[in-house]
Amino acid sequence: MTNGICPNCGSKNIYKSENTSWSRDGLNIQALGDKVTEVFATESYLCLDCRHIQMHVAEYSAAIFGKGKSLKESIQASSNWKKVN
Ligand SMILES: [Zn+2]
Repeated sequence: MTNGICPNCGSKNIYKSENTSWSRDGLNIQALGDKVTEVFATESYLCLDCRHIQMHVAEYSAAIFGKGKSLKESIQASSNWKKVN
């Protein structure tokens, strides 16, 4: 979708959410832990014709929520993400 074309329906009606901060509008990914919730910013691509969405999640969490923990470490240790088998 980064090329402006929807892989689901072929539409060129694609919008990009530029979310470089955990506090701005757009979409965030949260990893819930025992004490800390890590928040990761995303860059998202949305097709307005079929509503398919593609997200690219930041590699490290926001400094204020998660102290720069890695996505891999946070998701694997979280209580709200389960590995698909
Ligand atoms: Zn589409």
